[in-house]
Amino acid sequence: MNKPLKFTFRFHLTYRLLALTIAVLVVLSCQQKDSTSSTFGMVIHGGAGTILKKNMTSELEEAYSTKLTEALSYGYNILNNGGSSLDAVETAIKILEDSPLFNAGKGAVFTHSGTNEFDASIMDGKTLMAGAVGAVKHVKNPIALARLVMEKTPHVMLTGEGAEAFAKEQGVELMPDDYFFTERRWKQLQRKIERGKKNTNPSKDKTTTIKGLEFESSSMGTVGAVALDKAGNLAAATSTGGLTNKRFGRVGDSPIIGAGTYANNRTCAVSGTGQGEYFMRSLVGYDISVLMEYRGMSLEKAANTVVMKKLVKLGGSGGVIAIDKDGNVAMPFNTEGMYRGYVDRDGKVIVKIYRE
Ligand code: ASP
Repeated sequence: MNKPLKFTFRFHLTYRLLALTIAVLVVLSCQQKDSTSSTFGMVIHGGAGTILKKNMTSELEEAYSTKLTEALSYGYNILNNGGSSLDAVETAIKILEDSPLFNAGKGAVFTHSGTNEFDASIMDGKTLMAGAVGAVKHVKNPIALARLVMEKTPHVMLTGEGAEAFAKEQGVELMPDDYFFTERRWKQLQRKIERGKKNTNPSKDKTTTIKGLEFESSSMGTVGAVALDKAGNLAAATSTGGLTNKRFGRVGDSPIIGAGTYANNRTCAVSGTGQGEYFMRSLVGYDISVLMEYRGMSLEKAANTVVMKKLVKLGGSGGVIAIDKDGNVAMPFNTEGMYRGYVDRDGKVIVKIYRE
């Protein structure tokens, strides 16, 4: 009489344990899904410099905000649909490169020789693979070429003629010189050359000092994007025409991995804008990442330390946008303003221009 009872009891116990285990596994897998799908985000910039409200018309303000919102929304949508951070940053940058408002692609500044030369780079935080192009002249979307360098060559950076030959091989869209001509940038170059002639003592040229007006008002507009996707992968990208009146052949920080662009899944993704020479000598992107990795600093503290202290001490002006592996965002700049935007945790697009 006892035997069947024992059997029933044991059977129930085993059955209950099995059910419990399955329930725990289901809850755990749901939690895992939640943690990979809820944390993602994106930040973009459109250059730092002396951006003062008193010098802006409401139309221009509106135009910048609209374009930044458009780029951010397209990028964010990719992330929201489960796409990769690399696709998100490339898409956002291409939109800004196609706009005459920014110093990248179509709206790039001029070199002293009256040419346009673009630098761009992209980095994958998961693999630490990176691609960059320097001093290319006819590539409509330098960021797309940088990505092809990363994905289709064993190299990190191609420059000048070699980069353009590679662009042709890859069927990348090339444009004639006049596509990149904008009246506004041409006038900026003329003004800068005139000012240079009047300035007999180059060491007194304040264009390289912090809050110096000249570099900032005539060159700003470099574009950058950083993103964290639902799979937990970070990516960073930057594209620029460089500095107005630069020597032809000059390459800035934007295509230098670790300086203007850096991404590492263990820490953060960073894109910078400002006086490239200072960003190169400070390895701004990499410095922020290693302060997090080796010193255990938060993203905000690391980014502030580099942009507001180290760069300032060296005399360099500019800013960065950054996002960490947990979706925290930082956008410090030591200039008057920085075109910037991000999507908050509720999915709302926030675009800002001035210091607050
Ligand atoms: N960092 C860029 C360069 O030096 C310029 C900028 O961000 O405005 O080429």
